[in-house]
Amino acid sequence: MIERNDANFYRDWQKEYPIIDSGRGIYLYDNQRKEYLDFGSGISVTSIGYGVREVTEQMAKQLEKITFVYNGCFTSEPRIKLAEKLLKLCPEGMVRVILANSGSEANEVAIKIARQYHREMGKGSKYKMISRRLSYHGNTLGTLSVSGRPSWREHFLPYMYKFRQISPPYCYRCPFGLEYRACQVRCARELEEVIVSEGEETVSAFIAEPIIGTTAAGVTPPPEYYGTIRSICDKYNVLFIADEVITGIGRTGKNFGMDHWQITPDIITVAKGLSAGYAPLSAVIISNKIFEAFGRGSGKHSQGFTYTGNPLSCTAGLAVLNYIEANDLVVQAEERGQYLRRRLETLKDINIVGDVRGKGLFQGIEFVADRETKEPWPAEARLTERIVSKAFEMGMILIAGLGGCADGVRGDQIQISPAFVISEAEIDKAVGILRKAIEQSIEDVG
Ligand code: PLP
Repeated sequence: MIERNDANFYRDWQKEYPIIDSGRGIYLYDNQRKEYLDFGSGISVTSIGYGVREVTEQMAKQLEKITFVYNGCFTSEPRIKLAEKLLKLCPEGMVRVILANSGSEANEVAIKIARQYHREMGKGSKYKMISRRLSYHGNTLGTLSVSGRPSWREHFLPYMYKFRQISPPYCYRCPFGLEYRACQVRCARELEEVIVSEGEETVSAFIAEPIIGTTAAGVTPPPEYYGTIRSICDKYNVLFIADEVITGIGRTGKNFGMDHWQITPDIITVAKGLSAGYAPLSAVIISNKIFEAFGRGSGKHSQGFTYTGNPLSCTAGLAVLNYIEANDLVVQAEERGQYLRRRLETLKDINIVGDVRGKGLFQGIEFVADRETKEPWPAEARLTERIVSKAFEMGMILIAGLGGCADGVRGDQIQISPAFVISEAEIDKAVGILRKAIEQSIEDVG
């Protein structure tokens, strides 16, 4: 079953990677016909499930017609229709789409579009990005520079831009040691302090995941947070980029994560759920303010890659959006999300389950050694790794969150983000496996 000596240089040399042969619904099958219940949709990607014929048939038709055109010369019908469909999901005022191939590319483009916007407006001194600690925006040098993911930045620190980061809206472990409401969202107000200390004439944009992803799965800001962020950005002419690479396209039970706060960003990036794993695809959606600045200014940007807008990926994206609409899957994500949340809350009778959080079908669990003090497990206990590998042995895929959410080094958490088509019975089954995996891991660590 395991092929470790092939020619690929995989991410982890020690790890054994099963060979996956096929997928259907929320299940994957390896070449030995072992079944895996995918409780993480790959990595929050395959939101409509595996093997959806309505999508693969459209793609097969497009394969016969044309799969590639140079985007410096041509456009295509799937590309035109995809952008139109995507804009219909967006809040009012978002007017144009720039396509790319991955979440990292989309965020890289967003950073550059923000910078060019200020130049088009005659504010060439504005270039600095501000982001949050505990964040992930991508693995290119630009996006890693704004990401708060120390373990992935470590080797490349000499290449990282020295941009400032503010505290995450992490009420479970408030970075300021404050209590919610009395805190008056101190974490959001920190943005103003940093803009002022950097010099507002130098700051281009603030980027944030509406609900935190890999670095602190499911952490959801309090109600006033994004309103405060929006007004600070407006006050200092700083663009607000919502990185909806995970949360976009229904994952949290609304079209976009920001819809929970009814705040319109200046730029939205989406990726994973946009094509739900059927082809590489991402998008940068810009507001009228930005579009008009380009229109009055140079009228041009250089944010293209060879595969930008290729007809095959656009067909996949369009078919996925049509499938979501036809099957009312955003509403389903909200309803199943509520059920999932109720079932996850039942795990709180296990005394290491510290926090359960998130929205829709994007949930996270944080584990602690002591629920009263929120003391994290020692890193050497490798608790998350144990839980994930126990679940894997039982035929279920869980996504390990990164370590370090508690104090930079310690902190155990998992991300739970199944496909929107998961049934209540499948949620029950998955939560049952998760319970066993947690209990067995506690026995292991003593
Ligand atoms: N932004 C967020 C919030 C992500 O979770 C990720 C990937 O996990 C990225 C950006 C990067 O996307 P990609 O891996 O497609 O480049």
